Amino acid sequence: MHYLGAHVSAAGGADQAVLRAVDIGANGFALFTKNQRQWKGKPLTDEAIVAFKHACQTHGFGPEQILPHDSYLINLGHPEADGLEKSRVAFLDEMQRCEQLGLTLLNFHPGSHLNKISETDCLKRIADSINEALLPTKGVTAVIENTAGQGTNLGWRFEHLAEIIAHVDDKTRVGVCIDTCHAFAAGYDLRTAEATKATLNELGKVVGFEYLRGMHLNDAKSAFASRLDRHHSLGKGNIGLDAFTTIMQDERIHDIPMILETVEPGIWADELNWLRSQVLDAQEPDAAPGK
Ligand SMILES: [Zn+2]
Ligand SMILES: [Zn+2]
Repeated sequence: MHYLGAHVSAAGGADQAVLRAVDIGANGFALFTKNQRQWKGKPLTDEAIVAFKHACQTHGFGPEQILPHDSYLINLGHPEADGLEKSRVAFLDEMQRCEQLGLTLLNFHPGSHLNKISETDCLKRIADSINEALLPTKGVTAVIENTAGQGTNLGWRFEHLAEIIAHVDDKTRVGVCIDTCHAFAAGYDLRTAEATKATLNELGKVVGFEYLRGMHLNDAKSAFASRLDRHHSLGKGNIGLDAFTTIMQDERIHDIPMILETVEPGIWADELNWLRSQVLDAQEPDAAPGK
């Protein structure tokens, strides 16, 4: 199965995100469980938790179909003690919010060295941060997103993801989410079906598909290998549609949330329909008519 959706707004409560996903015909979605531009969110109330779980149950969303994203402020590889501690506290809070909501994945950007420590030290710090967050929580997998490599962000090379995973103690609770725009901007070609297959093979070789827990399907306004993070609607950017057809038909990619973070929410429903139409019938014999 393909759990296709978009990163929908959770304004008015996490339960509202479920309804927004339903509105665009999604069977997967992403959301922020708190304001992504603030360090501290209001604790989730019992009412909010019940409302979210109820909405998920009513509309048939299981935790494997939902990919929450953490706050943009968190830097788990922060070179300075204060910044690192603040990030670790906030990340643990994000993990616990997922636990409370019954969610099992938490998608985050690994971190930045800010030109103050080496890449190796930073990657080790990120892994230590993940270890610290996994210990007191249970049931939630830390899902590291590849980045475009903008500024001093790490995680733009698949090797960075592999190195972080190597230092995580509980390998059953760490995974990766591959964002196509970020990969393309980082220098992984996706402009043709062949290039996309080569990039996916590289991912399999360096990280392994057993760690793939989500995808972000975005075209890129940014140029190839530009290290700039600028998303675009599918088929309207520098990647083009072939990559997305190839991804939808790759048998190694299934049963994970595949999330649009494209720039025009008004056409998300169309984008999802198009993505679904690319799945071969043989891949999903049980899918409903019209998929
Ligand atoms: Zn992200
Ligand atoms: Zn993304």
